[in-house]
Amino acid sequence: MSARAQIIFLSIFPILVGLMSFGGETHRRQFRYCALCRIVRCDYKSVAGYGWSEFGINECSEWYPKNIESTHEHVWQRSPSSAGFNRNGKPIWVADSDRPGGLLLLTPAEQVAIYEHITNAVEAKRLFVEMRSDAETENYDRHLVVRSKAHILKDWSNSNFKRSWGEILARLEETENLIVSSDRAN
Ligand SMILES: [Zn+2]
Repeated sequence: MSARAQIIFLSIFPILVGLMSFGGETHRRQFRYCALCRIVRCDYKSVAGYGWSEFGINECSEWYPKNIESTHEHVWQRSPSSAGFNRNGKPIWVADSDRPGGLLLLTPAEQVAIYEHITNAVEAKRLFVEMRSDAETENYDRHLVVRSKAHILKDWSNSNFKRSWGEILARLEETENLIVSSDRAN
């Protein structure tokens, strides 16, 4: 781009952004959370194209590094909701996926309690890695599996962990096989 074109672009660009944001959307917000430690990441993206993120901690994100592994690569899951805001910071639209993330059925505190009832840290980690939901990939079968597994884990937590982890693991595996085989039958 020539120097003159750059000057023109730089003078017009803020006007364009101003016009786009006049009374309308200036930025969008999308939540993500880590399937393992449940830390929340909120990504903002402005109409001008720049972005920034904010992080929110909770009981699980604080508990996980002390009890499962001191460092880990976050396994990001997209929350089913996103929203757009105007320049006054007021939300002007929200959108929900029709496939809400199954893991969100569990609160971070419930996830900690579940970890505490799975004595093998490697197995516990694998459970939640495999429960990545499929808002990212839009894979409906995986979504059903994840949602059913989340219900099993939530019921386990609500019953105050009456059954053993071994029994729950067997139910989780059954659920996976049932959905996979009914899918094959179709
Ligand atoms: Zn994490």
